[in-house]
Amino acid sequence: MVSCGARLKHFSYMLLDFFLPRFCLFCGAPAGPEPGAAICSECQSQIEWIHSPMCPCCGAPFHGAGPDHLCSPCQLHPPPYHRARAVALYNGPVAQAIKNLKYRRGLIYARLLKNWLATSLGLELAQAADLILPVPLHSRRVRSRGFNQALILAQAFPDRPLDRDLLIRTRATKPQVGLSGKERQENVHRAFAVKDPAAVAGKNILLIDDVFTSGATVRECAQVLLKAGAKQVEVLTVARVSYA
Ligand SMILES: [Zn+2]
Ligand SMILES: [Zn+2]
Repeated sequence: MVSCGARLKHFSYMLLDFFLPRFCLFCGAPAGPEPGAAICSECQSQIEWIHSPMCPCCGAPFHGAGPDHLCSPCQLHPPPYHRARAVALYNGPVAQAIKNLKYRRGLIYARLLKNWLATSLGLELAQAADLILPVPLHSRRVRSRGFNQALILAQAFPDRPLDRDLLIRTRATKPQVGLSGKERQENVHRAFAVKDPAAVAGKNILLIDDVFTSGATVRECAQVLLKAGAKQVEVLTVARVSYA
């Protein structure tokens, strides 16, 4: 059921989309004739889209040419999710848009980020999923930030089933920034739960988040979902921090 607050939020995003400027949000240059273009061709060309060769499991791209192959971390510790994919590397305009959205309440960047997410790769993953779930924030973090950026991104696929409350964060965790891989895993350990296991049982789930860094968060979420009975979990993020 869609609440009145959610409808109001959706309406404000629509309004925001309508008033998106025709100049580039990153350098101020003209950004094309269509309303809401929001990025110029020069800044667009700085985006490093992720493509093969990559790890077929975690989606980490490899430098140079060659076939896709499993990266060492996935060989050593196979992740619980089936595939994780990110659209672009976390740098340039992509990193700027994500940081502005999260830390400066830059909702004006939301449409651009959703457009990047809903490219052919994103659409393919969304179509294959029975249910889309955003990686949840703790309610305290939602209150201080005003929104969950993963939920905003998950709305890039309006015709696919989305549940904003099924996967919950049961305890507040430290920000993952600055922690080592092991510390990240420990930090998110037992931080998530599935509210209604029957709602995920037997389903193909697509988890959505803004950035894939060590993968600790989505690993933990995937484990919890599979334990609750999900058939398969896949992951889609706008950005990925590094090469394999
Ligand atoms: Zn620009
Ligand atoms: Zn991998």
